[in-house]
Amino acid sequence: MKRRDFLRISASVGALATLQMVGFSCAKKGAAGDISLPDLPYAEDALEPYISARTISFHYGKHHQGYVDKLNALVNGTPFSGMPLEEIIRKTYKQADQAAVFNNAAQVWNHTFYWNSMTPKGGGKPKDAVAAKIDAAFGGYDKFAEAFSDAAASQFGSGWAWLVRDGENLKIVKTANADTPLAVGLKPLVTIDVWEHAYYLDYQNRRKDYISAYLEHLINWEFVGKNLA
Ligand code: MN
Repeated sequence: MKRRDFLRISASVGALATLQMVGFSCAKKGAAGDISLPDLPYAEDALEPYISARTISFHYGKHHQGYVDKLNALVNGTPFSGMPLEEIIRKTYKQADQAAVFNNAAQVWNHTFYWNSMTPKGGGKPKDAVAAKIDAAFGGYDKFAEAFSDAAASQFGSGWAWLVRDGENLKIVKTANADTPLAVGLKPLVTIDVWEHAYYLDYQNRRKDYISAYLEHLINWEFVGKNLA
């Protein structure tokens, strides 16, 4: 290779490296806009060994951040700019021409709710007032766990399983893709993400093992209690 060609290649590699660094730093801060990525409520490795730091780093740092960035790009300069996230979700639900805004807004909201639905020392049976509500609604914790697992396992393809309050009743519902109970006037209490990106690095195709780990070790009953209050 001639020295001149070598220098030219080195210069292009240098320029590419600079561009990537600039791109990375923009992604970390989030694209300019009103919606920002909330902090995780714990360290990325806090849910190990049940959910790895590697899963959280992609799921939070790439997927969740990606929904935030896309939403900002979609709403900047539109009437949705500056609107609270919940309002964007309700206003765009089932509006065919706003499907991309709905999908990204709902995924931003769903993921923030999901991170808060788990805690490092969570899992097992709820206590006190939450236990009483679960017992009254489902006839005991075991029946709740069975129904929640069934909903999460049977959601075909991507989606979510939720414990929600519907008026005075507690219910388990599942939603596809970005759909969220928030959009139909139900009050979400806790959720599990069953998109493959939530568990594939740790469990591959074993969604049921991920659901069991979530129920036995991660579900945040304190968060449920706050949402019921
Ligand atoms: Mn997800």
